[in-house]
Amino acid sequence: MDRRKFFRDTTFSVAGMIAGSAISEPYTKDRSSPSSYDIMKEVMKYRKIDAHEHVGLGGTVESQIDFADRLNIEKLVISRPINQELGKEVTPEEFRKCNDTILAAMKEYPDRYLGQAYVNPVYGKESLEEIKRCTDLGMIGLKVYNQLKISDPLFYPIIEEMIDLNMIIMMHAVTAIGFAGHRTKYGNQQPNASTAEDFIEAAKRYPEAMFQYAHTGGGGDWEYTCKAIKDYPNIYVDTSGSNNEGEMIDFVLKCLGEDRMFFGTDSSYYQGVGVILSSGLTENQKKKIFFDNFNNILKKSGRNVD
Ligand SMILES: [Zn+2]
Repeated sequence: MDRRKFFRDTTFSVAGMIAGSAISEPYTKDRSSPSSYDIMKEVMKYRKIDAHEHVGLGGTVESQIDFADRLNIEKLVISRPINQELGKEVTPEEFRKCNDTILAAMKEYPDRYLGQAYVNPVYGKESLEEIKRCTDLGMIGLKVYNQLKISDPLFYPIIEEMIDLNMIIMMHAVTAIGFAGHRTKYGNQQPNASTAEDFIEAAKRYPEAMFQYAHTGGGGDWEYTCKAIKDYPNIYVDTSGSNNEGEMIDFVLKCLGEDRMFFGTDSSYYQGVGVILSSGLTENQKKKIFFDNFNNILKKSGRNVD
């Protein structure tokens, strides 16, 4: 069996293998069986920026940094969003508290964490003030969730502010496959979650803005998404998610090319790395997806990694 096929067919077990060996002991054992492919050498070869991560949603910052160390993830882009409960609004007081959590983590690990501000555009004035506060304190972008769709007019002043700052907007995304074969598109649980179409509407209106379609590997219909956003160069995707279906990375590459994809984990660390290593990407393409592409975004605001 050829090496690539072996890993493509066994992404999950490979992820488990790394997890098992890395958690229980330092990587010292000879892994010549079942393949001579040295997966940890491959893992450590690439510098990484995790373009989709959180703090304050469970686990400790210490354990997160420990995971990052084991996988040579130099920087983690972190945010603390709130999932909108039906009928309950996220207030400015609440989103400021979320951002304080991020600022505290950035202070604790200044070399590792890159913070993203989280706001609720329903509160326009307070959101703009909060973006200013957070970016003045070193944050590098914006994370928004399912309070409103990215195409909603209440987002316009926020998108315009992010254009002025030359920073990317990472938007939570859901393009549901649907029930019994029917595409529900807007889902029921998150009526305001953004779909591929919502991203397109915003990207068309603001071609100079940068949008990050969150977690292509997060359970949505990534084939549909990639085909839909193909012609909008200011929509990027991150590869995070816990499902990591085979061929996803290769499909994203085919649709969007090698410059619009960022490595991300959304806390699925081993799977996030494994799905890229097990893809058919060239070494240089992996290097771009793991590190350079997101760093190029950071360069636009002068907050890049050396
Ligand atoms: Zn996330």
